[in-house]
Amino acid sequence: MSKNKDILDEEKKHVADATRVKYFDIVIDHGQGAKITDADGREYLDLLASASAINVGHSHPKVVEAITAQAKKLIQYTPAYFANTTTAELAKKLVELAPGDFDKQVVFGNSGSDANDAIIKFARAYTKRQYVVSYTGAYHGSTYGALSISGVSLNMTRHIGPLLPGIVKVPYPDRSQRLAGEDEITFSERLFKAFKLPFETYLPADEVALVIIEPIQGDGGIIKAPQHYMELVYEFTRQHGIVFAVDEVNQGLGRTGKMWSIDHFGIAPDLMSIGKSIASGLPLSAVVGRKDIMSSLSAPANVYTTAGNPVTSAAALATLDVIESEQLVVRSHRLGEVARYFFEQESQKHAFIGDVRLYGLNGGIDIVDAQGQPDDEATTKLIYRIFELGAIMISLRGNTLRFQPPLVITEEELSQAFEIMQCAFDELDNGLL
Ligand code: PLP
Repeated sequence: MSKNKDILDEEKKHVADATRVKYFDIVIDHGQGAKITDADGREYLDLLASASAINVGHSHPKVVEAITAQAKKLIQYTPAYFANTTTAELAKKLVELAPGDFDKQVVFGNSGSDANDAIIKFARAYTKRQYVVSYTGAYHGSTYGALSISGVSLNMTRHIGPLLPGIVKVPYPDRSQRLAGEDEITFSERLFKAFKLPFETYLPADEVALVIIEPIQGDGGIIKAPQHYMELVYEFTRQHGIVFAVDEVNQGLGRTGKMWSIDHFGIAPDLMSIGKSIASGLPLSAVVGRKDIMSSLSAPANVYTTAGNPVTSAAALATLDVIESEQLVVRSHRLGEVARYFFEQESQKHAFIGDVRLYGLNGGIDIVDAQGQPDDEATTKLIYRIFELGAIMISLRGNTLRFQPPLVITEEELSQAFEIMQCAFDELDNGLL
């Protein structure tokens, strides 16, 4: 008798397949910190952190307390008609936390996707231009706007086009394209040429509203844009009056060892989207950015009934408090370096471990075949074996292991995770998988 199986059999009758990217046949019953427990009582280390939505861990006591207290006080009043005390406090906090020494404002949403839609709206309204430049391999969300600027999966776009017009995709600066012996400046300049190509051939820069980028691409494979490349693109947007926006939905809030992933570059974006972990996974998102841009629209241009909800806002204030008081940004960096050491050691032992990329507790580990080509099959074997051994990991773009545990993972749990992965790696090498 498996409760997991019984619940899943029922659930599959009622929940449509469109949301089902599920890897393992389990149902989560409860979670605490870096651990989750399924309906049959089996415990797992969550090395996925609910897709980076619970950086402070599952059911953090401070977050639970804040949600409970707020729910007793006020659960909802639509922000279109009345502000509420808790969300007003959160707005102030987010404006303070966002990079940039300029006047800022915030709008709230319910998901990372609608935050990115809002970015497109604000940029178009502010510049009175239509075109938007985004990146290959980007994932910005599932609503029509966010999907139109994304480029990761055919299954997300099949049968539902046409998408939003006026979107131009440029190649993401992937370090795997770096030529042998090429230094970072030359590499960045070569990539920047690819960025500029549309502008030199068919896309008048003075008709472009927005460039939006994930400073460290998540679903695209955990790839960090080179510093000089980012500076060149940012400078280009300054020269041409284009809004420069970053998507921090997945990589923000300490995930990469900095509060925001754009902090790695020392650039203050005009606009940025935040979501996922902001309210420890409750549905809340935000766009924070330059006040002059944010005031280019008036109500009800970006209204959602439940956006900026008092309960999700209370969860966000508590989450931010935990990030600060438990110094999770520093912790993410420190434990990320421990993880880097582990994966680099393993890559010395196993030829199938290719490029290892770690930015804080945010890792992409490529699994390759004897010719150095992506090995999707071996990656799948690994994640299933890791699951059997008691940890949850998924793959990106077929052959990249995604390592993003909650930032509160203890050192002991991290060692357990390494032991599990080590065992799976050894078994793969010994032909046991
Ligand atoms: N932006 C990035 C970088 C993401 O990784 C995601 C989700 O994975 C989104 C936006 C969309 O967020 P949501 O699923 O909350 O709509």
